[in-house]
Amino acid sequence: MSKNKLDPKSRQTVTVDKDVLNKAKKVCGDKHIPLSGAIENFLDFFSNPWVYCFKCGKKFDSIDSELCPKCGWMICPECKACRCGLDERVAVAVFHMRRVYEDLLAGRVKES
Ligand SMILES: [Zn+2]
Ligand SMILES: [Zn+2]
Repeated sequence: MSKNKLDPKSRQTVTVDKDVLNKAKKVCGDKHIPLSGAIENFLDFFSNPWVYCFKCGKKFDSIDSELCPKCGWMICPECKACRCGLDERVAVAVFHMRRVYEDLLAGRVKES
């Protein structure tokens, strides 16, 4: 039992669609990473999503960022960029990229 105490990893039983699981296992095999690592990575992102500033490229946690009251997007803590400074075509591109996050997170990256 003392071994368990030292090991911060825990074992959970989750039910995943067989096809989804098989596809994920194949991708993990191709990338040479364990499935548990992929799940852990995603859960880490899921519980505290991070983004890269589209202007300066700084990585920041959504939890640490503030939402711009005007555009509703996260303000980069480094350069203070948000959607407001973008021209319309870039803003549309960012908007659609952000939808990937929102699909993955089943909601907004950061709730206002
Ligand atoms: Zn920035
Ligand atoms: Zn803004």
